Amino acid sequence: MCEFCLKHGEGKKWYLQAKNYSDDLLSDVRRRRFIEEFASAPESLARDAQRMDHLKKAPRFIRNMITHIITRRMKKVHFGQVVPIEEIEQIFGFANSFVRVACICRHISIGKEKRYCYGISLKPDGGMLAEIMRGLDKSFLSGPYAAGFETLTKDEAVSAFHTHEQEGLCHSVWTFHTPFIGGICNCDRSDCLAMRSTVTNSIPVMFRGEYVAKVNPEECAGCRECMRICQFGAVTYSASNKKAVIDQMWCYGCGVCRTVCKNNAIQLEERIKVPVAANLW
Ligand code: SF4
Ligand code: SF4
Repeated sequence: MCEFCLKHGEGKKWYLQAKNYSDDLLSDVRRRRFIEEFASAPESLARDAQRMDHLKKAPRFIRNMITHIITRRMKKVHFGQVVPIEEIEQIFGFANSFVRVACICRHISIGKEKRYCYGISLKPDGGMLAEIMRGLDKSFLSGPYAAGFETLTKDEAVSAFHTHEQEGLCHSVWTFHTPFIGGICNCDRSDCLAMRSTVTNSIPVMFRGEYVAKVNPEECAGCRECMRICQFGAVTYSASNKKAVIDQMWCYGCGVCRTVCKNNAIQLEERIKVPVAANLW
């Protein structure tokens, strides 16, 4: 269990607790203001991304100190965790409304509208989150964001996530003033600023998933599709026995490799039951 499960999930998976998506948490004015400011200022996110890239060149002790400060702060305000598709479906099972918006990361990193970010609400009318997001459309979104707010049915949202899974995107939940979960995203390493920060720049702003993947060599045909799709560089290929091998110390447990494996040779295991990965978050 990650530390959020202990703090915000009473020892169970914190992102499967309906209370962490509730309007009760959103009634906090500071949290609402944070969401508005976050979504209204893509340029400040772009500056943060540039600073993180520059930090790579800093001396190690400065880098370690700043990394610690950033991660500690982000855990309080905006932190994520990788979640496999079946648990996304569980989350959608207790949600009652779904909205989709353009991804701010992609707007910054590639200058394109990619509709990969979702908000859910326990209320059928979208509750306070929809209210905030509608307000954002009117107040500052422009260009590709102008059409930025779509309402989906549950079936449409589930189907969209399966499409994202096929595209090789890693699903993740995001807090806005932890523990409120205000976004469910579909990330990749090249365009998602959070994944770039965590994986490329070693400044963690998201937890690994609660799982790790494992290849059953008996079933593996050595096609290497799993290697191609893994965003985290966790899959290697053994030329001697012509099989894929997953390094569980690098695996984030997104489960996307399972989707491309035609031989059904990959399974997820509970991270806490895998000694080499149990304490890696
Ligand atoms: S996708 Fe499946 S069959 Fe292909 S290399 Fe990976 S585990 Fe083996
Ligand atoms: S090896 Fe791990 S991190 Fe890579 S795609 Fe599979 S589950 Fe995700």
